[in-house]
Amino acid sequence: MMTASAAVKAELLSRDGSRCEFCGAESDLEGYTVAPRDQSAVDSCVLLCGTCVTQLQTPETLDANHWRCLSDAVWNENGAVEFLAWRVL
Ligand SMILES: [Zn+2]
Repeated sequence: MMTASAAVKAELLSRDGSRCEFCGAESDLEGYTVAPRDQSAVDSCVLLCGTCVTQLQTPETLDANHWRCLSDAVWNENGAVEFLAWRVL
């Protein structure tokens, strides 16, 4: 997973009301590209907090309690969020 550009991050922040698209956290947010070939498209990016990113990148730290938020994220109307949520589950 790659970090999204500053421009994409700014769009993600406005799209999502500055909340993590997985757990709803409002701090430590960063934009990530789900589909690396299309980094410029906001639709292929998600806004995630540091906790979610750490757990995605190091699966051995996965906290089952934290990932309960994913049962909501899989129904997110945004395709990138939904895709990533299914992949984690
Ligand atoms: Zn989060």
